[in-house]
Amino acid sequence: MGAREAQSTLEALAVFRARARAWVHDNLEPLNGADPFMGHANDDADQVVRAKAIQRKLWDAGFAGLCFPTEYGGRSLSSEYQVAFNEESRGYELPLLFNTPTLTIIMPTILDFGTEEQKQRFIPAALRGEELWVQFLSEPTGGSDLAGALTRATRDGDVFILNGSKVWSTYAWKSDYAVCVCRTDWDVPKHRGLSVLMVKVHQPGITIDQIKHVDGTEEFCQEFFDDVPVPIDQVLGEVDDGWTVTSRLLFHERSSVGGSSPYEVGPRSSERRGGQFDALATLQRSVQGEDPRIRQLIGEARVLTRVHQALVRRIGTSIRSGRLPAPAGSIPRLSNGMLGVRMSAIALEIGGDRTVAWEEGDPIGDIGVAYLGRQGFCLGGGTTEIARNIISERVLGMPREPSQDVDRPFREVQTNATNTTPTAAEG
Ligand SMILES: Cc1cc2nc3c(=O)[nH]c(=O)nc-3n(C[C@H](O)[C@H](O)[C@H](O)COP(=O)(O)OP(=O)(O)OC[C@H]3O[C@@H](n4cnc5c(N)ncnc54)[C@H](O)[C@@H]3O)c2cc1C
Repeated sequence: MGAREAQSTLEALAVFRARARAWVHDNLEPLNGADPFMGHANDDADQVVRAKAIQRKLWDAGFAGLCFPTEYGGRSLSSEYQVAFNEESRGYELPLLFNTPTLTIIMPTILDFGTEEQKQRFIPAALRGEELWVQFLSEPTGGSDLAGALTRATRDGDVFILNGSKVWSTYAWKSDYAVCVCRTDWDVPKHRGLSVLMVKVHQPGITIDQIKHVDGTEEFCQEFFDDVPVPIDQVLGEVDDGWTVTSRLLFHERSSVGGSSPYEVGPRSSERRGGQFDALATLQRSVQGEDPRIRQLIGEARVLTRVHQALVRRIGTSIRSGRLPAPAGSIPRLSNGMLGVRMSAIALEIGGDRTVAWEEGDPIGDIGVAYLGRQGFCLGGGTTEIARNIISERVLGMPREPSQDVDRPFREVQTNATNTTPTAAEG
């Protein structure tokens, strides 16, 4: 059965799985031990080119966007089909760069809030591998209080003029488009004066600085916006109702970070520590004797992983069936953060000296590098502290955190960067 026929009649899961297995075997490159998150790319720029080409191959074969609706280029299939594809493509190079945030966070939000034109314009282009997205959410003044955004967009006829700065943006320099949370009304309380703009990343007025990390990588960027014009038809959702859209972005982000998104292709980003598992397995084989402490740590790593996987499945099913409210997506997000930090420490402890000083090309070195970035597991996608707040307030029904600024016009709210607040005359 061809891809287009499969689209018109629902293909049995077992038949789909067999077709996916054969196609993957014939069309994708085996990883042969390469990191699935880098594939066969030689550097970051090469990684983008390869990811776009492989995403296009998936599209041409009818395996892109399995859970997206057919009218926007997907296949309208249930998550079991994506899981089957992911299982059959394990060990092959996949366009993982497209998963987060493009396919697991931003496209689902465009599906939720986009106009028909926006959905037709942006979703198929992403599924074809033509446009990679980034999120412009966090600001230099803080990322947790997203509703306190100071980046501003001022209406001027058919465009908004964007000014301000965003930071921590993952691979902004590689991306084509961004969703940008900005303030469009300063005279209402902070949650009521935001809008979400869809912004072309590489254009006059946007300066991107890459930030070098302690581990030598350059994932994050800071962007500066100087009078950037954004057409009003690129507002996602309603003007000044950007908080509703942002909350949905965060919901999809927690599902993605927590490992329960139905849109994720290939190994989940929450499995990124898989490399450490491989290294753990190698270490286990190479560790001489029956050191009980090492055996205990390996046991702990396995148990934590199994528990996390079961939690992801259970919470995901419960949210989909309505037994748990959507904010319960913060539970696997919290578990993922805690697991990431603990696994990094376990791997380092087992690897010992070789994880801090290694021979060129020895994969054990990845453990030492990953340990340096371990706190990122508790920050990216919203911090674990914020996840705890959400679980207590919106899942367990405990009293809400007191807040001084939710009822006052944002212009009157003290921020740690008040000099960026425009005067009433400015906007
Ligand atoms: C790997 C990674 C990828 C990222 N990618 C992106 C991206 O692509 N785009 C983007 O916009 N951002 C991105 N971020 C930024 C991330 O969203 C922020 O780091 C995060 O939201 C926290 O913001 P902050 O670092 O400014 O800390 P702050 O908000 O300044 O918080 C500082 C500390 O105070 C705690 N805190 C704050 N408020 C509360 C509260 N009410 N209750 C309890 N504790 C609180 C926080 O948990 C944190 O520990 C990324 C971060 C990482 C690590």
